Amino acid sequence: MNETDEGRARLAQWEAAKPTNFYTGNGLLQRLLERMRGGPFDERPFVEFGGLAATKIDDAARKNDEWPRHPRLARFDGIGRRVEEIEFDALYHQLGKWVYEAGLVARLAEPGQTWAQAALAYLLGHAGEMGHSCPVVCTSGLVRAIQQKGLDEMKKRWLPGLLDPVYESRLHAAQFLTEVQGGGDVGANAMTARPNPAEPGTWLLDGEKWFCSVADAALFLVTARPVGAAAGTAGLGCFLVPRHDASGGVNGFSIRRLKEKIGTRTLATAELDFQGAVAYPIGRLDEGFKIAVGIVLNTSRFMNAVGSTAAMRRAFLEATAYAAAREAFGQPIGAYPLVRETLAIMKAEHAGALAATFYLAELIDRQDLGTADADDRKLHRLLVNANKYWASIIATDAIHRGIEILGGNGAIESFSVLPRLWRDRLVLESWEGSHNVLCMQVLHDAARYELFAAADRRLRSLLDAADAQFAPQAAVVRDAWAETYRGLSRCVANERYGARAIRLHVEELMQAFQAALLLAQASWEKRQRGAAATAAVAEFLISRHLDRAYRPLADDAHPAKVDAVLQDG
Ligand SMILES: Cc1cc2nc3c(=O)[nH]c(=O)nc-3n(C[C@H](O)[C@H](O)[C@H](O)COP(=O)(O)OP(=O)(O)OC[C@H]3O[C@@H](n4cnc5c(N)ncnc54)[C@H](O)[C@@H]3O)c2cc1C
Repeated sequence: MNETDEGRARLAQWEAAKPTNFYTGNGLLQRLLERMRGGPFDERPFVEFGGLAATKIDDAARKNDEWPRHPRLARFDGIGRRVEEIEFDALYHQLGKWVYEAGLVARLAEPGQTWAQAALAYLLGHAGEMGHSCPVVCTSGLVRAIQQKGLDEMKKRWLPGLLDPVYESRLHAAQFLTEVQGGGDVGANAMTARPNPAEPGTWLLDGEKWFCSVADAALFLVTARPVGAAAGTAGLGCFLVPRHDASGGVNGFSIRRLKEKIGTRTLATAELDFQGAVAYPIGRLDEGFKIAVGIVLNTSRFMNAVGSTAAMRRAFLEATAYAAAREAFGQPIGAYPLVRETLAIMKAEHAGALAATFYLAELIDRQDLGTADADDRKLHRLLVNANKYWASIIATDAIHRGIEILGGNGAIESFSVLPRLWRDRLVLESWEGSHNVLCMQVLHDAARYELFAAADRRLRSLLDAADAQFAPQAAVVRDAWAETYRGLSRCVANERYGARAIRLHVEELMQAFQAALLLAQASWEKRQRGAAATAAVAEFLISRHLDRAYRPLADDAHPAKVDAVLQDG
């Protein structure tokens, strides 16, 4: 074999070493779920879907992102009737069958299943499948809004279709808040709602929505201002707009165009004009903003973090396999300390994101089951925003690191999933709230509901419950948190300081929470399994972010710590 053949053989070795199941090799996910479920649980749906996601879905998602297969706008049918439809490739529909049949939305029929939905969505996220992930998230938001606020008639009429696991018959949803004058500032919405004289209790919507993903949806959730209602967020209503009217025609809207995007290209994102679309209010008109943000966007923000976490794991898998196969200067690149350090950072950051995101799933399930206490509710309100912000930042960073490990090949679309994951992340960073807007919301909510005090109580109790073996690490987290808590309290007390410092302190808050949750997980593993496999990533992350005195280069044991991080699956 000459050098060229050897080099290509090593690339083939890399391809062959890629996982064929995203669940079975993921020790941390399995241990986290086991702790959350209180012991062994039925893993079969995850094993099955983890296999599908790593093979058929992964392959189809890659092909479906090639431009000839992107969604197309069909405004008229063959004989010139206005239809305002989106056409997709057959592969897109095949992907949809796998996704819905796995129960990604259907799980929400029972309360307390967020953990399972999140686990399935996380496995799907490894494949970077965006064409159905976003509809699943939007549909979940509408399901929750109707379950919590819809009238009985609305529940009967729409929930069975929304929860239907059969792709061909399921109803899927979109959520349209953003208008051309602003997305973050939803209170600036200008779209109007007027009473519908033809059908009392329903409304007619007029106006324009600027970013409309899932433009093919059967049901749109839309924010609009009833005529005469107050300005700002207080006057917004939340409406359900079926795509079709009673006769099966277009329900009072037209699509201007599909947007050409840097990422999420298999998803149809459009600009829509509404001209008298018949709409059904969800909940009371004056609580529209609360429903749109508190239920719908919070569902999306949680799921956005699930996707970020999945992308981090995939980037790590790609990069580790490559580092084992690729040789440079006479040895596998995975033997070089600088490469090992990068891989360890990717792995530890993913572990922190996974622990925080699945903790959020626990908080949601407790609320849905009615077992949440006051602090659970406060923690959810805080973490749903803080965690989306931080997970989306570190996900982009992790993928970037993965691309670096792949060298020039990392920049090539046909070589690996990483360029697509990275392009998609740039979109997901701003979806459902840009970084600053989320951090400012944390600040406003904290001032109003005393969220930071709740975070302080929860964090301390997590650290107090850590196993004695982790006392030194718990002490480091406690000290760092004490400083962060002072900063957060100052943000609340001093508006001007808060407006410039909150983002940094939210970042620190997330680092402290991730650390405390990983220590709690490691402690549980030690008690239940006799060995704390999560300890290495917990300690690494704590040294990296919270131990102000730690200097990796001054620590002779640091390379062994990196090895320990890279050992477990
Ligand atoms: C591909 C794609 C699909 C989308 N699909 C949908 C959809 O289906 N439905 C939907 O409703 N929306 C959708 N969006 C819109 C998206 O949710 C918004 O773009 C996002 O919420 C940010 O709003 P904006 O673009 O108006 O930015 P702005 O709110 O104008 O923000 C611009 C910048 O200013 C900063 N900023 C704003 N306010 C403050 C403040 N108070 N303090 C400090 N900084 C601030 C922001 O952080 C940001 O960096 C989509 C966006 C994209 C890119």
